[in-house]
Amino acid sequence: MDYSGPTDLYIGGEWQEASSGETIDTEDPATEETYATVQKADETDVDAAVEAASAAVANGSDWASMTPEKRRAKMHAMADAIEEMKDEISMVESHDNGKTPFEAGMEIDMVIDTFRYYAGWTEKVEGEQIPVEDGRLNYTKRDPVGVTAHISPWNYPFQLAGRSVAPALATGNSVVLKPSSMTPLSALYYAKAAEKAGLPDGVVNVIPGSGSGAGSALSSHDDVAHVTFTGSTGVGKTIQRDAADAVADVTLELGGKGPAVVFPDADLDAAARGVQYGIFMNAGQMCWANSRLVVHEDVYDEMVEKIADIAENIPLGGGIDDDGQMGPVVSEGQQAEILEYIEAGKEEGATVAAGGGVPEDKDAGHFVEPTVFADVDNDMTIAQEEIFGPVLSVIEVSDEEEALEVANDSPFGLTSCVWTNDLSRAHTFADQLEYGMVMVNETPNTWPQTPFGGTKQSGHGRAQGEEAIQTYTEVKNVHINLG
Ligand code: NAP
Ligand code: MG
Repeated sequence: MDYSGPTDLYIGGEWQEASSGETIDTEDPATEETYATVQKADETDVDAAVEAASAAVANGSDWASMTPEKRRAKMHAMADAIEEMKDEISMVESHDNGKTPFEAGMEIDMVIDTFRYYAGWTEKVEGEQIPVEDGRLNYTKRDPVGVTAHISPWNYPFQLAGRSVAPALATGNSVVLKPSSMTPLSALYYAKAAEKAGLPDGVVNVIPGSGSGAGSALSSHDDVAHVTFTGSTGVGKTIQRDAADAVADVTLELGGKGPAVVFPDADLDAAARGVQYGIFMNAGQMCWANSRLVVHEDVYDEMVEKIADIAENIPLGGGIDDDGQMGPVVSEGQQAEILEYIEAGKEEGATVAAGGGVPEDKDAGHFVEPTVFADVDNDMTIAQEEIFGPVLSVIEVSDEEEALEVANDSPFGLTSCVWTNDLSRAHTFADQLEYGMVMVNETPNTWPQTPFGGTKQSGHGRAQGEEAIQTYTEVKNVHINLG
């Protein structure tokens, strides 16, 4: 189906063409054809968007002086607007990214929940009264930080943008959103939702553009108070440096190489199902994937067999016309990178237990077979580097101590899982896994109300939950001499 959604930049409440006249073609990874062409923002458009966003939060503006109750209603109106457009956004996301419509629908649902969750925060952002000397009143309030920049990736284009946009709006900030140029379409629906919800002009601005052009101009802009970046560790480091000149605060949600540790006392079928979801969902293009399966030697062969069997039987297919369970990966480049990792795994001595290449029955589309490597050593490239594709590395360990050591032996620290029915072992692992998130007997899972983020090279700061309220507000201390 042809694309008929928005293609212009949305700045200061106006849909407009890029000042340079340049555009971006976006591909449908299942057909390898151009699906849509959108306007491409450059530095001039970034300046205009930040200017509009600054005006929207200036003292006395409609947004700055809006009561918390009215802001709450606007947040619900955003959620309502997204809900009304859900079918359309899901279809667009599916074509733009390659994920299945089911997976796309889950993104939209999560965003609706997130807006409603943060709607409930608008009148709960409290300060405190601090006891000081006699005759004085000292208290704190939490103010919006101002203009917030949101630079989002292509793997969950709609959800990962909404995850930070919602708390930023709920706390009274304005937003400039730059989606990935690989999947720019669904982000434009935040502009449509803002229009439908009647948000004041300039509160939400959406500007597709390149990372090195618009992205870099936005993250280094003098008038941006906070940059939320979700993407690769390499670009995250650049963004932190770029934001330093403006002394802007930065939240970094970066890559991962999550372990799922399985002990013999676990429900092995449940573990196999959970792990397959955590590595083959979204064709493995997940920061929080459990891409390393760390298994006790007593059940190692059994687990390899179970997970390989599941992998061999996942139907592949993308777009809305197919009933595949796993779509293509996002681009030819991404596919090539994943295949290089698969070759590295073979060369370094791992055994292919399932998949290991491209499917033979597809005429078009950037498909990669769900792949399981057995006999993986944690020092191998496929165990240390983030592949960002449907490739699982299974590692054998002989006891609890070794399992913990291997699980923590990673440059990343986003999500970890442990499968066991031993209560004290579960708590010991929860305590000692060096990860921002630990799941026990669960595939990677999250909710709008739970903090999301990582340690080490996986970034800093937390999305979601109350943590995001702190992120997008700044404490002001007020001191009154009562005379
Ligand atoms: P990416 O290449 O780092 O790009 C992310 C975003 O940054 C895109 O919008 C990109 O724009 C932009 N960008 C690129 N260079 C930039 C620069 N110099 N200055 C400012 N912006 C720039 O990441 P990706 O390939 O889209 O996403 C995959 C990565 O994201 C993986 O490493 C994954 O683990 C990570 N991720 C993390 C989380 C999390 O919550 N921790 C969630 C999802 C994904 P263009 O696309 O237009 O170049
Ligand atoms: Mg695309």
